[in-house]
Amino acid sequence: MSDQPVALVTGGATGIGAACCRRLAAEGFRIGIHYRSSEEKAQKLLAELPESFGVRADLAEPEAIDGLIKEIKAAAGRVDVLVNNAGFNVNAPMLTMTVAQYDSVASVARGTWYLSKMVLRRFMMRKGTGRIINISSVVGHTGNPGQVPYTMVKAGLDAFTKSLAQELSGRDILVNSVAPGFIDTEMTEELPEEVKENILGKIPQGRMGTADEVADVVAYLSTRASYINGTVVHVNGGMYGG
Ligand code: NAP
Repeated sequence: MSDQPVALVTGGATGIGAACCRRLAAEGFRIGIHYRSSEEKAQKLLAELPESFGVRADLAEPEAIDGLIKEIKAAAGRVDVLVNNAGFNVNAPMLTMTVAQYDSVASVARGTWYLSKMVLRRFMMRKGTGRIINISSVVGHTGNPGQVPYTMVKAGLDAFTKSLAQELSGRDILVNSVAPGFIDTEMTEELPEEVKENILGKIPQGRMGTADEVADVVAYLSTRASYINGTVVHVNGGMYGG
């Protein structure tokens, strides 16, 4: 098995995740590109990053995560950096949102917890070193109408970061959140024009961020940051981030 460090990026085929894969590959990592439905995009990125490997799993299914861990063990035998980027949102008012819609958002968060546990247990704890980076969101700090479960999950992810960093104390396993503001990806493309205009008015820099601007911070936390732990780095152009 190769000595090359491995970064596993969940939701790595699209948007911010794909930018993290490219950026971490440029830093010398072999990339585990995780995807669920974006098979075609994952294949294109795999072709672009020849040393990478793909792993498919629905993070809402714990058994699928067990399978993913086995595949990574066989393909690479190590995970040095875990970027918990996958996330899911349903826009709906509180009064009409269904339990199934709530679960579709919350089950991905449970998957983030379970995948982190398994990556720690199978790889990072054995080496006593690692980096976990959770992609949360500005809305976990500000709230956002129509996104009650999504904002709960994102606020919870930042709490997960803080608790886990404390629980892992004494080891060189650092856990941080990167909380993007309004970033130009497919997730934000879907927003109605008036909602976009309203959000842009709240950003002191007056523009959306790019996926590369988020990936730059993820790369810094993955490689050079040695004394940043249990915290939330906001990448939001000055939009209120708590
Ligand atoms: P995106 O392209 O829609 O990315 C979401 C990713 O999550 C997709 O790659 C998707 O994989 C994966 N995913 C969703 N449900 C999953 C499940 N059940 N199992 C496994 N993977 C699942 O949007 P993005 O903007 O790049 O978002 C990336 C992260 O940044 C998300 O956590 C999002 O909440 C956060 N964020 C984004 C913004 C923004 O303005 N864009 C702002 C703040 C935070 P497949 O496509 O393969 O299904």
